[in-house]
Amino acid sequence: MGEQDAGFRSTKQHMLRESKEYRSQTLMGGLSGFESPIGLDRRDRIRALRTGDIGFVHSWDINTSVDGPGTRMTVFMSGCPLRCQYCQNPDTWKMRDGKPVTLEAMIKKIDRYADLFKATNGGITFSGGESMMQAPFVSRVFRAAKEMGIHTCLDTSGFLNKDYTDEMIEDIDLCLLDVKSGDEETYRKVTGGVLQPTIDFGERLAKAGKKIWVRFVLVPGLTSDEENVENVAKICERFGDAVEHIDVLPFHQLGRPKWHELRIPYPLEDQKGPSQALRARVKEQFENHGFKVY
Ligand code: SF4
Repeated sequence: MGEQDAGFRSTKQHMLRESKEYRSQTLMGGLSGFESPIGLDRRDRIRALRTGDIGFVHSWDINTSVDGPGTRMTVFMSGCPLRCQYCQNPDTWKMRDGKPVTLEAMIKKIDRYADLFKATNGGITFSGGESMMQAPFVSRVFRAAKEMGIHTCLDTSGFLNKDYTDEMIEDIDLCLLDVKSGDEETYRKVTGGVLQPTIDFGERLAKAGKKIWVRFVLVPGLTSDEENVENVAKICERFGDAVEHIDVLPFHQLGRPKWHELRIPYPLEDQKGPSQALRARVKEQFENHGFKVY
């Protein structure tokens, strides 16, 4: 089937990708087209991961209007330290479930689409899982992309802020930053992790003059509390002009079958998505803080 992989559509059902507001168009993708590095024993692989000579990839695709401007190659890295209750991709949680891809193979793949990216003002996006979990690989690919004149975008929760150096930040043009909740208690409930690294990463991006599209998943009764939304807005204010807009992503149940397939107890089994009225209220809250909201 060449580059096409008939199964890839079911491997990644990203919240935003399935959102009606975004007419995403996935052109091709999957896990095909990458040679796995051969002859690496476990120790070699760990070393190569640390240096960024290889990365573990869940899947990739070429899309429009989803993960940043223009036509983009989005690479979904394996591994995530968080355990969001509303995760649509629990199959990306374990790094070892991904496919090892060499830095050279990834750069070659990007180079192949370079003209398309430039013609559409698109580029490369790293998503996940948590893209920052493989910071050496991601940042080296970004450096190569910048040298080719290609736009770069990091889709992240910022949870691993400390793993991403100032030098690495230099090669990010745009960050899709998930601000999953506005206070520590709700953040922990929603993700199992802590909020502060997200704030720290957003502030570092802003200081470095980078652009941010904030993403906030709206789950009735979990993240929808008025005060929680206010606190998310206040966090976004700390990033100042760096924030170009906020995506309010309505919760949906498209990820449920994956939890079942993986036999992981799904905490939002009977959770409903937000009503139009709730969505309008949250949108207005962010707008009252001066943000453009999608
Ligand atoms: S950050 Fe949350 S939603 Fe994203 S992959 Fe990790 S657990 Fe899933």
